[in-house]
Amino acid sequence: MNIILLHEDDFISPTCVRLSDHRLTHILKVIRAKEGDTLKVGRLNGKLGSGLIEQLDSDSCQLAVTLEQAPPPATPITLVLALSRPKMMRRIYRMAAEFGLKELYVINSYKTEKSFWQSPVVEADTVHRYLLEGLEQCVDTVLPTVHFKPRFKPFVEDELPAIATGKRALVAHPGDHAPCPIAVKEPMILAIGPEGGFIPYEVDKLVEAGFETVSLGPRILRVENAVSTLTARLYDGACDR
Ligand code: SAH
Repeated sequence: MNIILLHEDDFISPTCVRLSDHRLTHILKVIRAKEGDTLKVGRLNGKLGSGLIEQLDSDSCQLAVTLEQAPPPATPITLVLALSRPKMMRRIYRMAAEFGLKELYVINSYKTEKSFWQSPVVEADTVHRYLLEGLEQCVDTVLPTVHFKPRFKPFVEDELPAIATGKRALVAHPGDHAPCPIAVKEPMILAIGPEGGFIPYEVDKLVEAGFETVSLGPRILRVENAVSTLTARLYDGACDR
């Protein structure tokens, strides 16, 4: 946790928060802070800043907060991701938040096991928890939005073309395709398949919706590694700033 994220109901006055949950445990056990210390804080979906510890004991921590710094800019890549195993999805939620992605569409695909749609990784509370962990890691406050689209065809035919408008649209697919571009300057939308990959019909539907097929070379990467490799390759915004 590189930042303490503050929620609306932590505020006991406009400039003062009281914490008593896992963040208190973190302050006591990991940071080992004491009264008078200053911690890095951020308001969820708001600004970054600092929190001066005014009171600290095993029950609660009270911080006087100053929030003046804008969070880092969003990474302009919309991710369209076929639902994979819950274990993989948990890592991807954290990773997406860490990379500054703000819009995720989790979609069905032929190789997505039906039971995955009944698992906690499609429930708002679980998703929220992993996204927060990503934000706490990378020192950002802006929560990504995750949309679930359990029907592939209607989503790709009826919704995706409008979502992709104004963006360069790429579908990552292993094989003999054009290499994935590097450091693209325009906004992008990137589709990544499930652990079994997209079937040819799905790739064709994405191409019909305006997506270009791109490859990362002959090695087939795990979904999570494909997400991080593609994001880092497509966007080097961190270096521009
Ligand atoms: N078993 C599948 C691969 C699935 S890998 C197959 O053989 O096709 C999961 C997803 O990661 C893929 O659908 C793709 O979107 C992405 N990916 C993994 N390796 C890739 C590569 N070398 N090039 C492009 N995309 C890749």
